Amino acid sequence: NSNRGHVAHADAITSNSIAHADANASKKKKVVVLGTGWAGMSFLKNLNNSTYEVKVVSPRNFFVFTPLLPSVTCGKVEARSIVEPIRNIIRKKNINVSYCEAECIKIDPASKKIYCRAARATLNTNSKQGEEFEVGYDYLIIAVGAQVNTFNTPGVEGNCHFLKEIEDAQKIRRNVIESFEKASLPNLSEEERKKILHFVVVGGGPTGVEFSGELCDFVNEDVLKLYPTVQHLVKITVIEATDHILNMFDKRITKFAEGKFLRDDIDVKLGSMVTKITENEISTKAKGSDKTTSTPYGMVLWSTGIGQRPLIKDFMKQIGQGNRRALATDEWLRVEGCDNVYALGDCATINQRKVVEDIAEIFKRADKDNSGTLTVKKFTEIMDDVIARYPQVKLYMKSKRVRNFVDILTEAKGNAAKETIELSIEEFKTALSVVDSKMKNLPATAQVANQQGAYLAKCFNRMEECEKNPEGPPRFRGTGRHRFHPFRYRHLGQFAPLGGEKTAAQLPGDWVSIGHSSQWLWYSIYASKQVSWRTRALVVSDWIRRFIFGRDASG
Ligand code: FAD
Ligand code: MG
Ligand code: MG
Ligand code: MG
Ligand code: MG
Repeated sequence: NSNRGHVAHADAITSNSIAHADANASKKKKVVVLGTGWAGMSFLKNLNNSTYEVKVVSPRNFFVFTPLLPSVTCGKVEARSIVEPIRNIIRKKNINVSYCEAECIKIDPASKKIYCRAARATLNTNSKQGEEFEVGYDYLIIAVGAQVNTFNTPGVEGNCHFLKEIEDAQKIRRNVIESFEKASLPNLSEEERKKILHFVVVGGGPTGVEFSGELCDFVNEDVLKLYPTVQHLVKITVIEATDHILNMFDKRITKFAEGKFLRDDIDVKLGSMVTKITENEISTKAKGSDKTTSTPYGMVLWSTGIGQRPLIKDFMKQIGQGNRRALATDEWLRVEGCDNVYALGDCATINQRKVVEDIAEIFKRADKDNSGTLTVKKFTEIMDDVIARYPQVKLYMKSKRVRNFVDILTEAKGNAAKETIELSIEEFKTALSVVDSKMKNLPATAQVANQQGAYLAKCFNRMEECEKNPEGPPRFRGTGRHRFHPFRYRHLGQFAPLGGEKTAAQLPGDWVSIGHSSQWLWYSIYASKQVSWRTRALVVSDWIRRFIFGRDASG
């Protein structure tokens, strides 16, 4: 039944409230949030129901605006400008929120407890490790993000830079400047200077491409003036395993980016896999060949995608999700097989329900008079509900340029006139089975994490209201009447800054724009998306400073 989720949610809430009614009559419901990244921050910013007591646990007492991390690597923006202390964010709330600088090391859903370790050792313990403690919860919100995936390639750990946290960006910046200083020392051979100034980027996704663009700008704009004797020795190589860089973007953008890198003298190696990295050399293998080539390098940035954190891997094993790639939730962001635990952002994935699995129930609901067939009139009545519950229907309609649901069904009947068409359950199933092919996992982006955090906060804001009034099956459409529609992602577009004040933008409706104008759009959107006026002012002044004075090359 297309209402299953709502009912189950209402049930879960009611039974939970009964179980806790006695013990917690006067106490507030305890919400524990793990993580202060995009998903956690967005949840905290949007939560405004004072009936909760909220505890935030994260080893990092600040939020990082990750889209600007690549700008920090070469000094376009200062690290301090893109972080916001979490205590600044929570102090503005009228609700009871506390923060604990610790890492969650184990989740125990049976006893509704988490185990934590303080991020820093306290004075009165002799051990170097932080103290351990436990925290109980009524609701647990897991937003711990993901970690870099090395695919167990030998030598990656220890020889490569990653770009995930603010410290990573600062380290890269120091290393870039160090490379130019080292290469400028006397008594080095040309070969040695070349090796030091060979920058390798593994992974042609947005992060790798943006870093290459930043580095290239730094070389063209600042190195030229600051290190004139070595500028001509710099080499940037991008290694990508698939056939194109930026392959998640529109083909026009991929083509433009590859062309620009070619003109900039960035060496893009497509269809190339890294097999091993040693202290001095990086080994690669071209697709379909057995030959390994080794090249000396000075610095490597590894950015090939994400994997799950050990905490999440363990938790998935505990709850029987051991064979999945990310923590699976339903469309309400509730972890499957685990009550009162929610997961969102990069650590989680939504297990979107197939239309075909529910076909009998959908059919029954539409066929109100039990005649065994559906007419156009009957399914137009449930059309909106089905589309809202199963977003793949909408994606299918878009891809086929079909105007509405009725067209999908008439198609199955071989162009019969719409008014006269009647479908049996088998025909209904055949017609709808095609739409499931359009199901897609949401990308691991800040945009998704941010929208999920806001969505979940809204559900929590209205949870009590729903407990008092666990109305029957709520309708999907018509705002206000139903409490918990499933999470729906709105794609607002994606940017790929390419360096040289040029950015590629892919906006909704297949709108692609590349060049200086989208660079300005990028500046204005990224300024407006800052979490506070403080970071907004800092970021904008960093941009202006760089325009006027160039980058700061000390470190
Ligand atoms: P995160 O933001 O990674 O937050 C995870 C939080 O959990 C952190 O605070 C961490 O300290 C904490 N944590 C970790 N382990 C534990 C633990 N055991 N216990 C408690 N807390 C823990 N997305 C876009 O949409 N647009 C972009 O332009 C873009 N650019 C990017 C550029 C870079 C360089 C990177 C690295 C990412 C970029 N992304 C971008 C992706 C985006 O940053 C992620 O999708 C987003 O951060 C995911 O949010 P999250 O809350 O799931 O995880
Ligand atoms: Mg988070
Ligand atoms: Mg973040
Ligand atoms: Mg993350
Ligand atoms: Mg996700």
